[in-house]
Amino acid sequence: MPEHDKKGPGSPGGAAGLHIGCHLSSSKGFAAMGRQALELGADTFQFFTRNPRGSKAKDLDPADAAALVELLAEHDFAPIVAHAPYTLNLCGAEEKNRALARETMADDLRRLEFVPGQLYNFHPGSHVGQGIEAGIDLIAQGLNAIVREDQSTTVLLETMAGKGSEVGGRFEELRAILDRVALPDKMGVCLDTCHVSDAGYDIIHDLDGVLTEFDRVIGLERLRAVHLNDSKNPPGSRKDRHACIGQGEIGTEALARVVRHPALRGLPFCLETPNELPGYKREIALMRQLFGRDAE
Ligand code: FE
Ligand code: FE
Ligand code: ZN
Repeated sequence: MPEHDKKGPGSPGGAAGLHIGCHLSSSKGFAAMGRQALELGADTFQFFTRNPRGSKAKDLDPADAAALVELLAEHDFAPIVAHAPYTLNLCGAEEKNRALARETMADDLRRLEFVPGQLYNFHPGSHVGQGIEAGIDLIAQGLNAIVREDQSTTVLLETMAGKGSEVGGRFEELRAILDRVALPDKMGVCLDTCHVSDAGYDIIHDLDGVLTEFDRVIGLERLRAVHLNDSKNPPGSRKDRHACIGQGEIGTEALARVVRHPALRGLPFCLETPNELPGYKREIALMRQLFGRDAE
């Protein structure tokens, strides 16, 4: 299984460490998120590129972006994750919806070059009755219109719960998208523990089996980030309701096995649990403690 960690064993989040953070508000800008992450004991984080509802992004302040770049390097952060608005749908039924998704994502990718070399995660989309095959095709076409050879950002398809007509509830669907993109080297996958469990992958009792399946279908080298969430619902429920760590159906022990799994070593883990900042701080500390318990 591949080794994802590019850092030396001496750095805080190096080969021996856990890279973990949480979803943060971007309302105070880039550098403020970096400082907030440090306060929480995080060495990665995620943020929405813009308000998930509206789609107008704030004016970008290059000095603020540069300050974050400096902070990330100084504190040995793992890659951070920019999350596209979840209302976008690259495989919507109407061209105007698909165009909005393409234009917004292209704009996000242009802006992200101010914080180079990070990750851009998005929900593949919902085929809204057009069928899974048509959905996969439209998503790949959309990506081919957006992703550029000269970008430094890696675009991640998120594993989905398979709610409604969501594309990406099966690993095979993500593989089919990756097979149709022109620039696969710019692409990867983000595994969401709540979503894969809800989609019916049994990470509670058979994490090894699920990761072996991921490797067989997609390839673990494509896995670039993990969303660490408990789920309010049992495996296979296709609901997508996140729970705090240990307050859902997956449970603390199963999530501890996720952060400790050798195949996932070195990846950035982001909590998207229903917490305010103190709750995130506790969960980051808890996962670091559980990671350390059996490490080495
Ligand atoms: Fe997401
Ligand atoms: Fe997620
Ligand atoms: Zn979710």
